[in-house]
Amino acid sequence: MPLVSMRQLLDEASKGGYGVGAFNVNNMEQIQSIMEAARETQSPVIIQASRGARAYSQDRFLYHLMQAAAELYPEIPTVLHLDHGNSPETCQSAIEMGFTSVMMDGSLMPDGKTPASFEYNVEVTRKVVEMAHAKGVTVEGEIGCLGGIEDGHGAGGDGLSHLTDPDQAVEFVEKTGVDALAIAIGTSHGAYKFTAKPTGETLKMETLIEIHRRLPNTHLVMHGSSSVPKELQDIVNQYGGKLKPTWGVPVEETQLGIRNGVRKINVDTDNRLAITGAIRKVLMEKPEEFDPRSYMKPARDAMKKVVAERMVQFGQAGHAKDYAPLSLEEMRKRYQSEAVTA
Ligand SMILES: [Zn+2]
Repeated sequence: MPLVSMRQLLDEASKGGYGVGAFNVNNMEQIQSIMEAARETQSPVIIQASRGARAYSQDRFLYHLMQAAAELYPEIPTVLHLDHGNSPETCQSAIEMGFTSVMMDGSLMPDGKTPASFEYNVEVTRKVVEMAHAKGVTVEGEIGCLGGIEDGHGAGGDGLSHLTDPDQAVEFVEKTGVDALAIAIGTSHGAYKFTAKPTGETLKMETLIEIHRRLPNTHLVMHGSSSVPKELQDIVNQYGGKLKPTWGVPVEETQLGIRNGVRKINVDTDNRLAITGAIRKVLMEKPEEFDPRSYMKPARDAMKKVVAERMVQFGQAGHAKDYAPLSLEEMRKRYQSEAVTA
């Protein structure tokens, strides 16, 4: 099956009342972990690459690895999504390379750090929507700014500095025509999301519920939504790591989000922790080992386990064969007819 558009995956998720995990990748082993988890749980899946990942892996490597994934797992509807595109040019280069979905993060200026004005965000996002929909490619926008910094991207600070305003969210969706909307409700990128288990004061689920009430037909996206389980932190620290105590987004809160319009859930940190813990364990327990496979294979297994767990928790498990995938050309025609009737 060729790579499919994210819009179709999220529309189907909306019909089925479930969420779809979007897992970040930089290399072959991470892609293999995700595809194996998808096959085991029969899940449609979103694989995403940030600008940092594209630079690390080199676009062409990434492209061909994803083609291999589509070829080897033909029964799994798979999306290749650009995470946090910083400019229309970055989104355009991703579309040209074969991404089937892009995020235009106009909540920040092109430096990926400075919060941008609402007008700037609308302008760049609308531009990307025009360009992407003309190719049948999906667009995710962001309104409000997430906390933290990852891969050099982010406004920094805690997640509460630039929360999404529901009125602005409505205006933003009307003016841009985005397919999916990332909202800021207190979450942050990276491992250090919360200094204690989040409460209604630090994780604003009521804001999410209000945005969904106002925008029932927009697919909502939760970023920075790793649950950062203590067991994974403990393995890293048990084998010589030095992680400070930290809390992520509890899976129950994500599930509450899914009941209220969240269709895409971004998870990266949990997988990073699983990989690092598995590698540290082998290197500490078997210092005589020097074949990279001796630690990459357990790392791949550890990530697969986490991804499969999330697929079950988000509800996407069992839905891989619910629908026939539409081509980007069919998606293009659909956008065109919507534009005519709008
Ligand atoms: Zn993000």
